[in-house]
Amino acid sequence: MLSNLNNTFSKELPADKDLSNTRKQVLNACFSYVLPSKTAKPQLLHVSEEMLLAIGISKEEASSEDFLKIFTGNTVLENTHPYAMCYGGHQFGNWAGQLGDGRAINLFEINYNNKQWALQLKGAGETPYSRTADGLAVLRSSVREHLCSEAMFHLGVPTTRSLSLSLSGDQVMRDIMYDGNPAYEKGAIVCRLAPSFIRFGNFEILASRNDLATLKTLTDYTINHFYPDITSEGKQKYLDLLVAIRDKTIDMIVHWQRVGFVHGVMNTDNMSILGLTIDYGPYGWLEGYDHGFTPNTTDRQHKRYRFGNQGYIGMWNLYKLANALYGLIDEVEPLQEILDEYEKLYTQKYNAMFFEKLGLFSSDDLPVSLLTDLEKNLHLTETDYIIFFRTLAEISKNDTSETAFSKITNAFYTSDNFPETVKTTWLNWFSNYLSLLSSETLSDEERKDKMNLVNPKYVLRNYMAQLAIEEADNGNYNLIDELYQLLKKPYSEQPENEKWFAKRPEWARNKIGCSMLSCSS
Ligand code: AMP
Ligand code: MG
Repeated sequence: MLSNLNNTFSKELPADKDLSNTRKQVLNACFSYVLPSKTAKPQLLHVSEEMLLAIGISKEEASSEDFLKIFTGNTVLENTHPYAMCYGGHQFGNWAGQLGDGRAINLFEINYNNKQWALQLKGAGETPYSRTADGLAVLRSSVREHLCSEAMFHLGVPTTRSLSLSLSGDQVMRDIMYDGNPAYEKGAIVCRLAPSFIRFGNFEILASRNDLATLKTLTDYTINHFYPDITSEGKQKYLDLLVAIRDKTIDMIVHWQRVGFVHGVMNTDNMSILGLTIDYGPYGWLEGYDHGFTPNTTDRQHKRYRFGNQGYIGMWNLYKLANALYGLIDEVEPLQEILDEYEKLYTQKYNAMFFEKLGLFSSDDLPVSLLTDLEKNLHLTETDYIIFFRTLAEISKNDTSETAFSKITNAFYTSDNFPETVKTTWLNWFSNYLSLLSSETLSDEERKDKMNLVNPKYVLRNYMAQLAIEEADNGNYNLIDELYQLLKKPYSEQPENEKWFAKRPEWARNKIGCSMLSCSS
């Protein structure tokens, strides 16, 4: 099991020379060697069959004792040297200094089928970056990370992946609502994968310490391994890197808006330099379409990371990355130019994506007012984002506004008792929409098929993850696999799974773990 292991990150970048696993400021280094902790009674709960395949592990091997021990940190493979990365970050708009992998431990890299993966355990014990916390993770947040990573991939959203979900057998103390009521929860460990876990914050910490030598080494390493298409030299290659990261970041966020994903903690330490969705914490899914929705209870007051602000925050975070790279470039203007393009590029991509959601594929010259009016309408009454767009594909070019409207009312959380003015506003919008649809060259059927590849039918609604967590807490893991299987085909009709194509049930409206998520994980 597991050949072609590698360690480019730890071989090519400077290590913390002090090998003690104590909390410290780590200078002139990109990481610290640290071993995962042994756990009381590890138990494998779920594996992603696809990620097994991706790294060349058979199903039989995955049920072996060796697999369990490696992916819960209880065995360290020969010739591998686990480590935690050093990074900093801006949290909720403020510089937070050194953060680092406080509860993630990188095991090794593997090359398989011409792809490079870095594997990392989340929740495998203390590291020099654990600060005041314990280095552990609980079952609830681990189920959420495992399922959502895989679901996002199948939705076509760039993301880190998850190989396995295990119980550690240890108890972990958490105060979920930070209200002085701590309780024990089951500890868990996820093994996650990505070509690299480098974040904006890896660059920021080095720049903040004016450690230009290490900053250059890390930036060159990043370009060599992950942006091989950048062939320019000198300052230009660092500018090209910023352009590439900007474009990937825009891509990722536009996908989030398309599927209704709210990350919840877009701090710069949670921004991947590969434009991957990373660090699934208090994320959430839109149910009613709402630009103001933030799932993160810590963000409730200012809603910095609300759905409608994610595009802007992507740019804000890129400014911080640009500041960090400035040390290698020494000129503000070219950096500023790259950042100045963000808004235009984001808007172009976002609008193009939204027109696709609407099934308007044929023309390049569509009125943006159709989108802005739609966004307003979706806020008029609580309207389920997923159901609205999936149902929109049922509309025929020949429908009247009235018929078209009647087809989507199922997306409303309360279909009766809304003012007549709401209906009139909708009818006006449908009349504009239908007139644009009439110039579409595709037939209704063809358009529907194409729309159904853009508008998912199944996403990991907040309450669905919560149901799987509650069952798992009681020792029943079937729903984890049921949801994993369901979310492998989010765009397909799955008649046997129609029950998951439904509005959020009323019991979940204000329930912790459903609409409100805590950072405590
Ligand atoms: P997050 O915003 O959850 O991505 O985490 C911010 C920082 O806190 C990162 O440096 C994490 O490694 C660290 N962190 C979060 N939870 C824990 C924990 N239970 N133990 C140690 N460090 C943690
Ligand atoms: Mg993080």
